[in-house]
Amino acid sequence: MDKIPSFQKDHNKLLPGLYMSVATNGVATFDLRFKRPNEGDYIPQAALHSIEHMMATVLRNGPHKEDIVYFGPMGCRTGFYLLSENIGYAEARALIEKALEECLRLTSVPGAKKEECGNYLEHDLAGAKRECAAYLALLRAENKGE
Ligand SMILES: [Zn+2]
Repeated sequence: MDKIPSFQKDHNKLLPGLYMSVATNGVATFDLRFKRPNEGDYIPQAALHSIEHMMATVLRNGPHKEDIVYFGPMGCRTGFYLLSENIGYAEARALIEKALEECLRLTSVPGAKKEECGNYLEHDLAGAKRECAAYLALLRAENKGE
Protein backbone atom coordinates (compact mmCIF):
# COMPACT_ATOMS: atom_id res chain seq x y z
CA MET A 1 0.00 0.00 0.00
CA ASP A 2 1.10 3.59 -0.60
CA LYS A 3 2.17 5.72 2.30
CA ILE A 4 -0.47 8.44 2.56
CA PRO A 5 0.77 12.07 2.52
CA SER A 6 0.23 12.73 6.24
CA PHE A 7 2.58 9.84 7.11
CA GLN A 8 5.28 11.19 4.80
CA LYS A 9 5.82 14.22 7.02
CA ASP A 10 8.61 13.71 9.54
CA HIS A 11 6.74 13.84 12.83
CA ASN A 12 10.02 14.32 14.70
CA LYS A 13 10.18 17.81 13.20
CA LEU A 14 6.53 18.80 13.65
CA LEU A 15 5.93 21.62 16.11
CA PRO A 16 2.58 22.68 17.54
CA GLY A 17 0.81 25.13 15.23
CA LEU A 18 -1.74 25.32 12.44
CA TYR A 19 -0.96 23.60 9.15
CA MET A 20 -2.85 23.27 5.90
CA SER A 21 -1.93 19.72 4.96
CA VAL A 22 -3.93 18.64 1.93
CA ALA A 23 -6.23 20.40 -0.51
CA THR A 24 -8.12 18.14 -2.89
CA ASN A 25 -11.38 18.66 -4.80
CA GLY A 26 -11.86 22.04 -3.15
CA VAL A 27 -11.66 20.58 0.37
CA ALA A 28 -8.74 21.71 2.51
CA THR A 29 -7.53 19.77 5.54
CA PHE A 30 -6.11 21.82 8.39
CA ASP A 31 -4.06 20.19 11.13
CA LEU A 32 -4.61 21.93 14.45
CA ARG A 33 -1.51 20.56 16.10
CA PHE A 34 -1.89 21.23 19.83
CA LYS A 35 1.04 19.08 20.98
CA ARG A 36 4.48 18.19 19.72
CA PRO A 37 4.38 14.56 18.50
CA ASN A 38 5.98 11.80 20.57
CA GLU A 39 7.01 14.01 23.47
CA GLY A 40 4.90 12.26 26.10
CA ASP A 41 2.43 15.14 26.43
CA TYR A 42 -0.96 14.34 24.86
CA ILE A 43 -4.43 15.82 25.14
CA PRO A 44 -6.22 13.75 27.80
CA GLN A 45 -8.97 11.62 26.26
CA ALA A 46 -11.90 13.33 28.04
CA ALA A 47 -10.68 16.82 27.08
CA LEU A 48 -10.07 15.66 23.49
CA HIS A 49 -13.64 14.36 23.33
CA SER A 50 -15.09 17.58 24.77
CA ILE A 51 -13.08 19.80 22.38
CA GLU A 52 -14.48 17.74 19.50
CA HIS A 53 -18.04 18.53 20.64
CA MET A 54 -17.29 22.18 21.46
CA MET A 55 -15.35 23.13 18.31
CA ALA A 56 -17.68 21.21 15.97
CA THR A 57 -20.68 23.00 17.49
CA VAL A 58 -19.11 26.45 17.45
CA LEU A 59 -17.75 26.09 13.88
CA ARG A 60 -21.08 24.78 12.58
CA ASN A 61 -22.85 27.79 14.10
CA GLY A 62 -20.29 30.32 12.92
CA PRO A 63 -19.94 32.58 9.89
CA HIS A 64 -18.50 29.72 7.78
CA LYS A 65 -20.95 27.02 8.86
CA GLU A 66 -21.74 26.16 5.23
CA ASP A 67 -18.06 25.52 4.53
CA ILE A 68 -17.29 23.19 7.44
CA VAL A 69 -17.03 19.60 6.22
CA TYR A 70 -15.64 17.95 9.34
CA PHE A 71 -13.96 18.61 12.66
CA GLY A 72 -12.53 15.74 14.67
CA PRO A 73 -9.66 14.56 16.83
CA MET A 74 -6.38 12.98 15.77
CA GLY A 75 -6.17 9.45 17.11
CA CYS A 76 -2.68 10.19 18.46
CA ARG A 77 -4.24 12.89 20.71
CA THR A 78 -1.84 15.61 19.57
CA GLY A 79 -4.51 17.69 17.84
CA PHE A 80 -7.52 17.93 15.52
CA TYR A 81 -8.45 17.98 11.85
CA LEU A 82 -10.63 20.62 10.27
CA LEU A 83 -11.88 19.92 6.77
CA SER A 84 -13.45 22.84 5.01
CA GLU A 85 -14.42 24.16 1.62
CA ASN A 86 -13.65 27.57 0.19
CA ILE A 87 -11.45 28.73 3.06
CA GLY A 88 -7.81 29.75 2.66
CA TYR A 89 -5.16 29.53 5.35
CA ALA A 90 -5.45 33.07 6.77
CA GLU A 91 -9.22 32.90 6.85
CA ALA A 92 -9.17 29.48 8.53
CA ARG A 93 -6.71 30.72 11.09
CA ALA A 94 -8.91 33.69 12.03
CA LEU A 95 -11.95 31.43 12.11
CA ILE A 96 -10.22 28.93 14.42
CA GLU A 97 -9.02 31.65 16.79
CA LYS A 98 -12.58 33.05 17.05
CA ALA A 99 -13.96 29.53 17.59
CA LEU A 100 -11.44 28.84 20.36
CA GLU A 101 -12.44 32.11 22.06
CA GLU A 102 -16.06 31.00 21.92
CA CYS A 103 -15.18 27.59 23.37
CA LEU A 104 -13.61 29.37 26.34
CA ARG A 105 -16.96 31.07 27.01
CA LEU A 106 -19.00 27.83 27.01
CA THR A 107 -20.43 26.79 30.36
CA SER A 108 -21.26 23.23 29.31
CA VAL A 109 -20.20 20.73 26.66
CA PRO A 110 -22.75 20.70 23.81
CA GLY A 111 -24.26 17.34 22.87
CA ALA A 112 -23.10 15.61 26.03
CA LYS A 113 -26.38 13.97 27.00
CA LYS A 114 -26.65 10.21 26.90
CA GLU A 115 -28.93 10.28 23.84
CA GLU A 116 -26.55 12.62 21.97
CA CYS A 117 -23.13 11.03 22.42
CA GLY A 118 -21.40 7.64 22.27
CA ASN A 119 -19.58 8.05 25.59
CA TYR A 120 -21.40 10.80 27.43
CA LEU A 121 -19.66 10.30 30.80
CA GLU A 122 -16.23 10.91 29.26
CA HIS A 123 -16.16 14.71 29.13
CA ASP A 124 -14.03 17.38 30.78
CA LEU A 125 -15.10 20.99 30.16
CA ALA A 126 -12.37 22.52 32.34
CA GLY A 127 -9.67 20.33 30.79
CA ALA A 128 -10.94 21.16 27.29
CA LYS A 129 -10.79 24.88 28.05
CA ARG A 130 -7.23 24.56 29.38
CA GLU A 131 -6.10 22.90 26.13
CA CYS A 132 -8.00 25.43 23.97
CA ALA A 133 -6.54 28.37 25.92
CA ALA A 134 -3.00 27.02 25.53
CA TYR A 135 -3.45 26.48 21.79
CA LEU A 136 -5.01 29.93 21.33
CA ALA A 137 -2.09 31.51 23.18
CA LEU A 138 0.32 29.67 20.89
CA LEU A 139 -1.45 30.91 17.74
CA ARG A 140 -1.52 34.49 19.06
CA ALA A 141 2.17 34.37 19.94
CA GLU A 142 2.90 33.19 16.37
CA ASN A 143 0.78 36.06 15.00
CA LYS A 144 3.02 38.46 16.87
CA GLY A 145 6.07 36.71 15.46
CA GLU A 146 7.25 35.40 18.82
ZN1 LIG B 1 -19.35 12.39 22.03
